Amino acid sequence: MLKDNLKNVKENISNACKRAGRKTDEITLIAVSKTKPVEMIQEIIDEGIIDFGENKVQELVNKYELINKKVNWHLIGHLQRNKVKYIIDKVCLIHSVDSYRLAEQINEEAAKKNKIMNILIEVNVADENTKFGVKYEETKQLVKDISKLQYIKVKGLMTVAPFVINPEENRIHFQNLRKLFIDIKSENIDNIDMDILSMGMTNDYEIAIEEGATIVRVGTGIFGERNYSI
Ligand SMILES: *Cc1c(COP(=O)(O)O)cnc(C)c1O
Repeated sequence: MLKDNLKNVKENISNACKRAGRKTDEITLIAVSKTKPVEMIQEIIDEGIIDFGENKVQELVNKYELINKKVNWHLIGHLQRNKVKYIIDKVCLIHSVDSYRLAEQINEEAAKKNKIMNILIEVNVADENTKFGVKYEETKQLVKDISKLQYIKVKGLMTVAPFVINPEENRIHFQNLRKLFIDIKSENIDNIDMDILSMGMTNDYEIAIEEGATIVRVGTGIFGERNYSI
């Protein structure tokens, strides 16, 4: 039952918070609903979750139109510049900005809607060539460049840590991202709010919380395994 899965995830979050001396209300749980039907999303909404993550623009737009409850949609996957216009007025946060060109496009579309778009910078913490995200060393400069765009607000950093069997292996990456987060925050750059650290997925969210995550993105742990063959 989804309800039991969710309860389990919430307990794990609560225990990780205890271990780290943090409060549970410092953590936002995003239910990652990619590939899952709206009926399942509805079930989780009924349990009180309002934050949902999707990694594909078309799927997010479809679900946005089918679900008429108040939901905060998060775009967590790679975003192509020509698709920004479809989601600009539908999402509360774009987690996956990793280039100035993409930020410029978001700025342009946000300006048309006269809104400020909240974004995170996606960092490729382990420098994996299979992953999106800006290089760790180039992150601060990218944040500084984007800070000049009027219709964008950088709210923090995001990462997708490597796929590992033992999640302890990712602890170092979470620690490094937090260091960078604090470093950028301490510079008090104009038009930048370093508030959000989006890190941790089903396999490693407890460790991410111990290392300072403020958003965890959990898919499988709530909705079960994904089937991409259908
Ligand atoms: C799919 C996905 C998740 C959730 O992954 P699970 O391992 O199923 O929890 C989190 N973040 C991103 C960016 C994703 O694409």
